[in-house]
Amino acid sequence: MKLHEYQAKEIFARYGLPVQRGAVVEAAEQVAGLDLRYPVVVKAQVLVGGRGKAGGIKLASTPTEAEAKVRAILGMEIQGERVSRVLVAEAAEIDAEYYLAFVTDRSARGVTAVASAAGGVEIETVAHTTPEKIVRGAVDPFLGFQPFQARSLGRRLGFAGPHLAEFERICTTLYRLYWDEDADLAEINPLALAGGHLLCVDAKLVLDDNALYRHQNLPASEEMTPLEREARSHGLAYVELDGDIAVIGNGAGLVMSTLDLLAHFGGRAANFLDVGGGASAEAMQTALEIAQRKSGIRAIFINIFGGITRCDDVARGIVENPPRVPASIRLTGTNEEEGQRILRQAGIVAGLDADEAARAAVELARRPPRRGDG
Ligand code: GDP
Ligand code: MN
Repeated sequence: MKLHEYQAKEIFARYGLPVQRGAVVEAAEQVAGLDLRYPVVVKAQVLVGGRGKAGGIKLASTPTEAEAKVRAILGMEIQGERVSRVLVAEAAEIDAEYYLAFVTDRSARGVTAVASAAGGVEIETVAHTTPEKIVRGAVDPFLGFQPFQARSLGRRLGFAGPHLAEFERICTTLYRLYWDEDADLAEINPLALAGGHLLCVDAKLVLDDNALYRHQNLPASEEMTPLEREARSHGLAYVELDGDIAVIGNGAGLVMSTLDLLAHFGGRAANFLDVGGGASAEAMQTALEIAQRKSGIRAIFINIFGGITRCDDVARGIVENPPRVPASIRLTGTNEEEGQRILRQAGIVAGLDADEAARAAVELARRPPRRGDG
């Protein structure tokens, strides 16, 4: 789960990491009431990076100017995300920008500290153009991140004296935060030298979804659409897409290849929906309900390969909640004869071949709607 910068900074502040004073607003009129020292920086709160480049970060030297900037940024769209909240913070006078992060590094099978004196730029860009400017430190899974490692990283970034001591404290604190909050990524970019001290100008925190249950006071995730959240509450893996063919399959791999098949025949999937292994008739009913809820659905493609999942269970689910839009069904594998029989009895036709069924689904979606439909 990704957190907004202002949410991450609240957690940073709790751990004693240095962040600017600031407040979040949802309307330009709120700026006047803020007790902040000017100039301020006005920052779009969206869950994507590169806000600065996209024009979502602006400096303002008076409340009037700040109000105008907030108004301009609210309602902006940054990489497809509409800005509905803006962070107004006391601006820092930045002398140098560094990068610091702790990241779950699958290739190292552990946590890695990543730092660079080339901060303020996306780390992927630094890695691509000047990889020698990135320094790393592997965290021993049994010992944790050690202060000497922080000092070593700091020296390699060029810090000495009091700045090195500050860097060490920020580094070890960020690691503690990363660990205690079950983060996947804790990133400061830029970690700035401002007014003679190090300051976390930006904060990015991605939490491990598998550990969310251990953290009760987290804000609600904003990464899912309401429909995705509802599907998740029923134990279905569902992702909204922008096509017009609803998709239901069993197993993530099968559903992925189902999306590819539709694309191959010129169709566009409206969603990814995996009913999971061993799906019951009830799960199938719920899946049908969720998959057809989105507006603009013109056809549905149900692609089931029975393994642990039994075709007769699936068929019973379909019969209980028959598709409301033209459907193409492929049903094969465990208990397929029984499944096919149940569907036939209800007047529903299902095939055995995925390619044929995908092609049929694309055809159905292209057909002009009959009168009285929709
Ligand atoms: P991002 O573009 O989404 O990563 O947003 P950041 O918070 O990292 O800001 C992008 C850039 O805007 C930073 O690298 C800084 O150069 C600049 N910036 C952000 N906050 C301030 C500030 O308080 N003062 C100054 N002078 N520049 C800032
Ligand atoms: Mn940044």
